[in-house]
Amino acid sequence: MSQQFQVKGTKATYIIYDKVLGKGAYGVVLLAQAVNSVNQFAAKIISKKSLSLTDIVNLRNEINIQSKLSHPNIVSMVDAFEDNEYLYMLLEYCNGGCLFTNIQLSGPLREEKAYKYFVQIVQAVQYLHSKNVLHRDIKLSNLLLTHEDQIKLADFTWSTSISMGYVAPQICGTLEYMPPEVIKNGFQNEKLDIWSLGIVLYEMLHNDLPKNGQFFIKHGISEECKQLMKQMLEVETYKRPSTSDLLSSSWIKKFQRNNGLTINTCRSLSGITDKLGSPQKTTLLGSPMGSPLRTAFGSPFGSPMTSPLNSPLGKCTFGSKHVPTEPVSKQRVSTHKLC
Ligand code: ADP
Repeated sequence: MSQQFQVKGTKATYIIYDKVLGKGAYGVVLLAQAVNSVNQFAAKIISKKSLSLTDIVNLRNEINIQSKLSHPNIVSMVDAFEDNEYLYMLLEYCNGGCLFTNIQLSGPLREEKAYKYFVQIVQAVQYLHSKNVLHRDIKLSNLLLTHEDQIKLADFTWSTSISMGYVAPQICGTLEYMPPEVIKNGFQNEKLDIWSLGIVLYEMLHNDLPKNGQFFIKHGISEECKQLMKQMLEVETYKRPSTSDLLSSSWIKKFQRNNGLTINTCRSLSGITDKLGSPQKTTLLGSPMGSPLRTAFGSPFGSPMTSPLNSPLGKCTFGSKHVPTEPVSKQRVSTHKLC
């Protein structure tokens, strides 16, 4: 791993290394470190050249929401800024890979292990819902792990604030984890995340996704667990349990008793009101031309284009409140990304 370039953020100057942590729909995630510090981060770096208006709204939204969240099971965003070519998001570094890859390697989890992860995931989602935020893309590849095996929910690209108990219908997220009401573009509320949690629990236990909408539960899964999955994967949204219901379910209680664990539930009902300021312009201290970005984004870059952020379409500045857009295509409706 070698240092490639330095970039000045709003809170520190960061060294960006050539170690690729992952690739997402918009850009590459590289290992970074604050200058004069041992702190390591994941730098999500997005080329502004090819972004559409919808992309910009999604990214602005991601920064806006994620920067205000603070929970032990949610990846924290420590800085966000841009230069002429790129947007940078400095994120808490999760060095244990993602749950998808881990389960691909280990095979299906035993119920007790799945419970340990599931409780953390539900607590993260409970916190989000208490802040009136929906994630809308909960899946194994967006669940990262620290080296202490702690879960961190990541990727807030599709997250949105909920008001009056529902959100404007939008087809977004990842097809395999989408509840029926999202696929049908119908009434949507926080219960859409509960469906995705049901798929996540199913997948942790089977190392597979339900096929053709059929939830065949393998032999040996406890009755409490089956019931819980069935409730989460209920077509009628109002019948699905809330995050609090999940944490007090008999399946969770059973393991909680065995492990003597206490679950911290989150009861705050405050909405998100404060805003992150617009990302600061930054100075690139090294040469991006020879940087890992060139390799990671493909090389060479095409002819210079007007940055969407400077174009008439780009008038929506980062840091402002998320404006619902027209339904987006399922272009980001993807299967798992290997990480
Ligand atoms: P996108 O929103 O563009 O799809 P993601 O946020 O999903 O990008 O990140 C892509 C990949 O980068 C993830 O699947 C993961 O492998 C890696 N990654 C993202 N954030 C982190 C992080 N905080 N720590 C370690 N790796 C990360």
